[in-house]
Amino acid sequence: MQPALSFLGVGDASQQGLGHASACVELGDRRLLIDLGPGVLQAYMESYAALPEALFITHCHLDHIADFEKLFIKAWFAKLEHGAAFERPLLFVSVAIVALLHERVANYPGALAEGGVNFWQAFQLIPVARSFEFGGCEFQLVPARHHKPGTAYGLYLPGHFFYTGDTRPIPEVLEHTIDEHCLVFHDCSVQGNPSHSGIDDLKREYSQALLQRLWCYHYNSPAQRQAFNDAGLKSVQPGQRFTALGLSGQSG
Ligand SMILES: [Zn+2]
Repeated sequence: MQPALSFLGVGDASQQGLGHASACVELGDRRLLIDLGPGVLQAYMESYAALPEALFITHCHLDHIADFEKLFIKAWFAKLEHGAAFERPLLFVSVAIVALLHERVANYPGALAEGGVNFWQAFQLIPVARSFEFGGCEFQLVPARHHKPGTAYGLYLPGHFFYTGDTRPIPEVLEHTIDEHCLVFHDCSVQGNPSHSGIDDLKREYSQALLQRLWCYHYNSPAQRQAFNDAGLKSVQPGQRFTALGLSGQSG
């Protein structure tokens, strides 16, 4: 089975109509959604006509998790309506950030005003140390550089792709740890800052061979995409779907 990766959004926190950064890993009829920022749930349901069956969360900034309350309500009422026929969404999260995620989305007393449910009853929460199984694949979590160490993780499917999530450059991972065939989808703005990568950062930190396999996302305007292009960097367009992950290095 050849995995595909479909971007629901490519924007940064301001996003300006590009959608908040999020992508869906398609594995035949199984799907794993990466991140759940504002508007992502709606975009997912418009694309797939279903609730997400599985999610991976890179980190706990609101532009990556703000739709959790909506998903909680939809999933819980679907569970009440369909009972055992409804599989609660699988939620893969680094064990290191479970407490942080709980504080941000699940700690409010009385998940529903009507009572009778705790937030996590709508999900199947699966804390992950290093890797997890889904859809016949083994995904690996790799620490990114985004604020406090141990609070942000990229997602790696060996032989196919590496999705950085929000990060500064991580050459120790991308140049020395992952395989040389996979595509790399990398946080990038025109100007870097203490939280995110910039064009100069990528060109300084990574080899030409890696840059050939790298696609920038997490930007805020078509003008920024043009700046990537002018710098010789590829960028993901909103809605772009990649079907040849890691084999030919070409997008669908
Ligand atoms: Zn962030």
